[in-house]
Amino acid sequence: MQHCDTLILADWCVPVEPHDLVLTEHAVVVNDGRITEILPAADARDRYEPSTLIERPGHVLIPGLVNAHTHAAMTLFRGLADDMPLERWLREGIWPVETRWVSAEMVRDGTRLAIAEMLRSGCTCFSDQYFYPGIVAESAVEMQMRAMVGTPIIEFTTPWAENAADCMRKGAEEVHDRYANHALISSCFAPHSTGTVSDESFHELRVLADQLDSPVQIHLHETAQEIADAIKETGKRPFDRLREHGLVNSSLLAVHAVHLTADEISQFADAGVSVAHCPRSNLKLASGIAEVATLQKAGINVALGTDGAASNNVLDMLGEMRTAALLAKARANDASALPAADALRMATLNGAIALGLADSIGSIEPGKWADLTCIDLRHINSQPVYDPVSQVVYTADANQVSDVWVAGRHQVEDGNLTRIDENELLQRASEWRSRLHNGKETKTT
Ligand SMILES: [Zn+2]
Repeated sequence: MQHCDTLILADWCVPVEPHDLVLTEHAVVVNDGRITEILPAADARDRYEPSTLIERPGHVLIPGLVNAHTHAAMTLFRGLADDMPLERWLREGIWPVETRWVSAEMVRDGTRLAIAEMLRSGCTCFSDQYFYPGIVAESAVEMQMRAMVGTPIIEFTTPWAENAADCMRKGAEEVHDRYANHALISSCFAPHSTGTVSDESFHELRVLADQLDSPVQIHLHETAQEIADAIKETGKRPFDRLREHGLVNSSLLAVHAVHLTADEISQFADAGVSVAHCPRSNLKLASGIAEVATLQKAGINVALGTDGAASNNVLDMLGEMRTAALLAKARANDASALPAADALRMATLNGAIALGLADSIGSIEPGKWADLTCIDLRHINSQPVYDPVSQVVYTADANQVSDVWVAGRHQVEDGNLTRIDENELLQRASEWRSRLHNGKETKTT
């Protein structure tokens, strides 16, 4: 008998790579946080003596979900400004509240709440962009969550930084340098949008990103208004400005990409740009519906993100995946667009590719981190099971997520967070509600 740390047996295992494969009665072997073998359950029982044996009949094991775009700390602004279009939502609903309330403490509490919500809904990695990125990284490490921490870049003064140059300097120090080669944290630069970053700053960003070999992500062509405003102010579409600054390449993650011309789509494909599709945020802010089927046909890697909780309003990647699958069909007027297996791939491996992490996460393959999610299909709404992938995409809710591992650490067990005090998070959320509601308490840093 061979020793292993953890042996996970589930009725079905969907490794995502190879594509559209369902393994029945298989086991996943985990050692030192990594997947070392996938083999039939009967063979695994004969060969392995695990420290921890996990048996999950009626469950399906999938790679941990990868949330390719969010603003985690904004959980504390959930439901604060609804039912407005993007530009009004930002100017009237969000930016004034951020100016008043964003602080290291707010980012820590909001990010912790978000991580708990994401873990509970099967997500094992999130790509963030928010102020105090060093605090975001610290919170993720403390809670043992995987994160791509984006340094926000914006010209105007925020509680975190004075201007775009200050953002870049702080981000390089607080995140890039501090977490270089960290097992859970990777970093990127995240200019908010072309409307909030000057040509000079884009130039500096290009130099810095090249120097640090850092990826870049940006909200791009989210609304028709954003493009019209850019043309009015600069005479150029946002995409053209980015291209002129040399930022359109395979390290670019374009968030939203709802409004693209045929020519822009082919330029995205040629340059190897990835897209973070955020369907529920786009729906809620009435930003438009991305042409996912067309983007995929053009060969563009499309990942999936929830966006922040102030515009979604939940960070549930299972729900996001279902919305993406349904919406892609309606948008393409084709019921075969974005089939279930493709939607699951979008929420896992495509996310890993978009974040430059495909060598280490995104699928259940030997050598990758054991970032895994187990879903209980024995719920009424998921019965009977003909096709577990179809059930995951079209029927499963977050409350069916039974187990989650991040780098082999059991973070959710029987639907409960194992390392996180949920009551403390609820208490902090309630305190923030009182502060924001009353608007009286002095801001703390
Ligand atoms: Zn966003």
